[in-house]
Amino acid sequence: MSTDRYSIFSLLRETLRGHTGWKPAWRSPEPKPHYDVVIVGGGGHGLATAHYLAKTYGVRNVAVLEKGWIGGGNVGRNTTIVRSNYLLPGNIPFYEHSMKLWEGLEQDLNYNAMVSQRGILNLFHSDGQRDAYARRGNAMRMHGVDAELVDAPELKRILPMLDFDNARFPIKGALRQKRAGTVRHDAVAWGYARSADGFGVDIIQNCEVTGFRIEDGRIEGVETSRGFVGASKVGLACAGNSSRVAAMAGLRLPIESHALQAFVSEGIKPFIDTVCTFGAGHFYVSQSDKGGLVFGGDIDGYNSYAQRGNLPTVEDVLESGMAVMPAIGRVKLLRSWGGIMDMSMDGSPIIDTTPVEGLYLNAGWCYGGFKATPASGDSFAHLIAKDAPHPVATAYRLDRFATGRTIDEKGVGAQPNLH
Ligand SMILES: Cc1cc2nc3c(=O)[nH]c(=O)nc-3n(C[C@H](O)[C@H](O)[C@H](O)COP(=O)(O)OP(=O)(O)OC[C@H]3O[C@@H](n4cnc5c(N)ncnc54)[C@H](O)[C@@H]3O)c2cc1C
Repeated sequence: MSTDRYSIFSLLRETLRGHTGWKPAWRSPEPKPHYDVVIVGGGGHGLATAHYLAKTYGVRNVAVLEKGWIGGGNVGRNTTIVRSNYLLPGNIPFYEHSMKLWEGLEQDLNYNAMVSQRGILNLFHSDGQRDAYARRGNAMRMHGVDAELVDAPELKRILPMLDFDNARFPIKGALRQKRAGTVRHDAVAWGYARSADGFGVDIIQNCEVTGFRIEDGRIEGVETSRGFVGASKVGLACAGNSSRVAAMAGLRLPIESHALQAFVSEGIKPFIDTVCTFGAGHFYVSQSDKGGLVFGGDIDGYNSYAQRGNLPTVEDVLESGMAVMPAIGRVKLLRSWGGIMDMSMDGSPIIDTTPVEGLYLNAGWCYGGFKATPASGDSFAHLIAKDAPHPVATAYRLDRFATGRTIDEKGVGAQPNLH
């Protein structure tokens, strides 16, 4: 690795010389005429793919092409929640692989990503919902993932500010995963970028892919705003823009793009030391280390590629928050923003080859792609390097929508707004 290691010794050395010796975290190279692998999209998934391609699979002649700047997409816009509390066999091993990679990420990248395993509590509000969460918890435990049911008295001790006796949505307990938590989202992008760069990967910002050169059904490279870049293999990791980018290669994806908004309040004293989700509506909240409450809810109901949302959803999210945690009505909202979700038709992702030889697809992450970043990068790198799916990602096939083998985690069918 060419990058300097961050450590107490490098900090001391730089302190003594007035912090004049730090190098940029990654280079800004000009695109080369040809790479073994080009990754389109410098979000979390694209950068993680480049890191694992170089570090785990030994493929180092790689470029990541990003139309904007590193961290400007969803990877820097999400509510930072990571967890592996899934129900279906196609999902649990994948998200648990991700959880394990999160647990070792800072050592792997030599970068402080503020991984905080503060736990998650998914509230339930009826006996039927308790049964559903017990089933989910049992499925997790059968796969070796930690899960426990918390009853109402214990929950009152952990989160006394909840509205337990709400007439409409009484709180009866929660499903808890203690190893879940939050990770500082943009540090994940920077950490992967720095590590990949250290292995020789070219990270090229302000370079939009505008088309694909395909000859006899095989990828030859990409047309970009900075000229043609040849590539033996091309991986798409464009999140909310997946369908637009794939369309340039003649592919029509089973994906709809919607805006998802997030919110942060003014900084307050320690209020909630875990992640909490409402079970009767869409609302999830944690508290940042600066003190702001970070929360979100539903996607906006219409298709959009604009990285901003609309007021009806703001009202809906705040109503849900007030239903579960009325005290937050006294807190001022500081900021809100939006990102574009690549909503797949069953709520699960796609990591697969495409009908174009040498063109690979990573998409369909819906609301949940941040927690998947390490496993997605590892699995996509495995697929690109070995032309075989990673063992934890075998179910994420593109053709499952045609064959009927969908992974409908929430059991709501092809309804993007419900995933
Ligand atoms: C408000 C919000 C809250 C969320 N909360 C959570 C959460 O708590 N937990 C969780 O697990 N997930 C969450 N998510 C989802 C998660 O952030 C995404 O699923 C995930 O980040 C998507 O992968 P990415 O990081 O690679 O995407 P991005 O960072 O969006 O990366 C895709 C990149 O592709 C680039 N690109 C697009 N087109 C081109 C082109 N033609 N040429 C070159 N580059 C291109 C884009 O500029 C972008 O940088 C949330 C998302 C949002 C918006």
